[in-house]
Amino acid sequence: MADILYVYKTSIYANLTNKCPCRCTFCIRNNTDSVGSADTLWHKHDPSMEDIKKAVDDFDFTGYKELVFCGYGEPTSALDNMLETAKYVREKHPDIKLRLNTNGLSDRINNKPTAELISKYIDSVSISLNTCSSEKYDEVCRPVFDHAYESMLKFAEDAKKYFEHTQFSIVDTIPEEDIKACQKIADDRGIYLKIRKYSD
Ligand code: SF4
Repeated sequence: MADILYVYKTSIYANLTNKCPCRCTFCIRNNTDSVGSADTLWHKHDPSMEDIKKAVDDFDFTGYKELVFCGYGEPTSALDNMLETAKYVREKHPDIKLRLNTNGLSDRINNKPTAELISKYIDSVSISLNTCSSEKYDEVCRPVFDHAYESMLKFAEDAKKYFEHTQFSIVDTIPEEDIKACQKIADDRGIYLKIRKYSD
């Protein structure tokens, strides 16, 4: 079975689903089957809540401060399990901060506004902005939805209202003028922009 919880750098990562409505050209899943301490992150089928709770029970949280809901897939594609997992981890390990790394398409995936709901269970959110326009986003992320970029921005604006901390992220491989345009998009919304190095 694929790893449900694994360690990368100083955080614990939760891999709850391989489902994702995008096919990003840069997706790490195109190049490798694992990250950090994980052996494989490809689930044969997405884990049940029973599997996830067992993984949490078996994991030694000593010394960690943060758990991140992240890939090999888009965590909000398993929204109910993600929220139940967050609740379970908070009950068992109240000192652990919870973060969601997302493509920001949760509202489209789940057919309802979701930022406020998620913020009740998870402390902070990092949204992949990736690029500076809808056209470029469609080329790079290849989402199944139309107007996905606009949906992602709307989710980010909602997240800013409800989460303790909201950030956008981009990778520094895009052109300098696109980075500047992304900075403006973030600044206009009062959202911090994290510019990740390609190697991070
Ligand atoms: S949104 Fe994330 S998991 Fe989905 S294809 Fe893009 S990089 Fe991969």
